[in-house]
Amino acid sequence: MALGRGVAGLEAASPVNGDLGRLAELFLGAARPVAFTGAGVSTESGIPDFRSPGGLWDRFDPSEFTYRNFIGSVGGRRKYWDLGRVTYPVIRAARPSAAHVALAELHRLGRLDCCITQNIDDLHQRAGLPADKVIELHGNATRTRCLECGAAYTRDEVHAWLEASDEVPACPRCGGIVKPTTVLFGEAMPAAELREAERRARAADLCVVLGSSLVVYPAAYMPVHAKHAGATLAIVNLEPTPLDAQADLVIRDKAGAVMAAVVEEIRTGTARREPSERPEALERQPAP
Ligand SMILES: [Zn+2]
Repeated sequence: MALGRGVAGLEAASPVNGDLGRLAELFLGAARPVAFTGAGVSTESGIPDFRSPGGLWDRFDPSEFTYRNFIGSVGGRRKYWDLGRVTYPVIRAARPSAAHVALAELHRLGRLDCCITQNIDDLHQRAGLPADKVIELHGNATRTRCLECGAAYTRDEVHAWLEASDEVPACPRCGGIVKPTTVLFGEAMPAAELREAERRARAADLCVVLGSSLVVYPAAYMPVHAKHAGATLAIVNLEPTPLDAQADLVIRDKAGAVMAAVVEEIRTGTARREPSERPEALERQPAP
């Protein structure tokens, strides 16, 4: 753990490290805690960070997988789906990490307003976080839709088409272009999700960054919005981030290990308190 800022007295009350105890206290004391997750929580599930050295973009040229190329030609789409045949099974086979499980549990405990994520792998939902509590800034690789008629197809369906035929996937209903809901290079981020994420970030009184290096914009503005609106900012990431200097708490560790300990501390810490000392759970708080 780096940059410990233990609160006086907290260590004595907490069986875990001071930073973890402080993070647990922040969740317990917050009325609208928001999590912001990045690639780090997915790499803990075995999904490689495609941007890291030795990652996918060392073997494939990202400039070929733009939105423009996908929309512009059958050849562009063929290249995309060839890549997808390699990457999608990795996503499909991944299991939620300790961080995904911990966030779902925090929500069950009434200690999480929502999770804003840069990830596209559906693992927050598969861990049990309700879909309406997951705001996906970069889309979702497990869903596709027809750009002409709007018909939705699961990625599993499209993957089966790819396995069965050399044809580039087209909408069975209207012949239109079928596109994953993933945001491609050069594609605008989904407007409704972006608006909702900004609204939730500004309304938050605690923003906890998990496994994000905060270098991909505009997603990385969300913790900035939260901090500027008065939220406490905590960052849990293995590497330093550009926002560390603005953060109230920085923990340089794996998100899964940290969040599992935090959830355990919240469970046992809440149980240790007198009922009159227990913070109200979020369900009893009015929505912003
Ligand atoms: Zn269609």
